[in-house]
Amino acid sequence: MEFRDLKAQYQALKSDIDTAIQKVINHSNFISGEPVHELEKELENYTNMKYCITCANGTDALTLAMMALHIGEGDAVFVPDFTFFSSGEIVSFANATPIFVDVDIDTFNISAVELEKAIKQIFAEGKLKPRAIIAVDLFGQPANYDKIRALADKYSLVLIEDGAQGFGGRIGNKAACSFGDIATTSFFPAKPLGCYGDGGAVFTNDDSMAEYLRSICVHGKGSNKYDNIRIGMNSRLDTLQAAILLPKLNALKNYELDAVNKSANYYTEHLKNLVKTPVVLPGFYSSWAQYTITLSNLEERNGLQSFLKTKGIPTMVYYQKPMHRQEAFDKSLYADESFHNTNTLCDTVLSLPMHPYLTIDIQDQIISCIQSYLK
Ligand SMILES: *Cc1c(COP(=O)(O)O)cnc(C)c1O
Repeated sequence: MEFRDLKAQYQALKSDIDTAIQKVINHSNFISGEPVHELEKELENYTNMKYCITCANGTDALTLAMMALHIGEGDAVFVPDFTFFSSGEIVSFANATPIFVDVDIDTFNISAVELEKAIKQIFAEGKLKPRAIIAVDLFGQPANYDKIRALADKYSLVLIEDGAQGFGGRIGNKAACSFGDIATTSFFPAKPLGCYGDGGAVFTNDDSMAEYLRSICVHGKGSNKYDNIRIGMNSRLDTLQAAILLPKLNALKNYELDAVNKSANYYTEHLKNLVKTPVVLPGFYSSWAQYTITLSNLEERNGLQSFLKTKGIPTMVYYQKPMHRQEAFDKSLYADESFHNTNTLCDTVLSLPMHPYLTIDIQDQIISCIQSYLK
């Protein structure tokens, strides 16, 4: 059994993907070839954003956002405590200070109440300049942007959407990667829209921001790449990856999002009386990067995970450790007791196999093993 079955997806899309790869090789235009531009247009259409700038990975996408916003030393950036390392790493990498914020116990996303407390505290301390909020669309569900946008406006902060796991999600008719002043995503293979290696993208509606981003992802280019008007990076999406993403984006739109939502509903229907199942807010639509249940305590979670492993069922713990406890950050900045929800979640969450090619048979097998362990 696969946790995320990329082989089944390849079998379903094989002829389109093989043809696309061969076409790129025939043209041998491996960097910035036509499929890259075509993909950027498709992604702009899908998210209803004016500009999509593809890049080398989701972490670079966030770093490019930091650079475009000129965030650096002395700046505070608010980041959820429960997320992949990258969301906080890129803040420190830009020499700014990540201020971690506890999350909502139901949605796993940044808590608006805790966020406002943290913003007020940094203003009151007067040491760092509050600059930006990085909201993460964790496990596929968009963060609570109505509330977060209101706080960004109230305190004049820039809103960055880390949509690495959120691509394909929505609030009403508004797509993930359209909620931030800048939004980013990742095409890491296991993400809702994944390529066959590393890839990422940045989204914005701002003309001058888009122009700046296009420059800094190619060595700070001016009129061409040998005219360098600023210090930048080398962060581009390979033509091969773009060609692979085009048929995968179609599959995502046409049936994969429906499929994961069906599977999520099926899990929830059969597990809701046994464990805490994921909560999707009214009007929100998840792309189910992960289907994550919550157990009563660490022993039960670890016990269930080991039991499922003996039955050949792969599961993952996203995430084992809160950001504020990571050795890489200045831990003296964070009081462990202000992260009650994240601390609890790290001990109790378990992500089950989830992907668009999951069958009812496999789900029944997983569900009955969970039932027999917890009874
Ligand atoms: C995967 C991920 C990233 C980083 O993406 P890469 O393409 O692996 O660099 C950033 N933020 C979140 C929330 C992620 O899940």
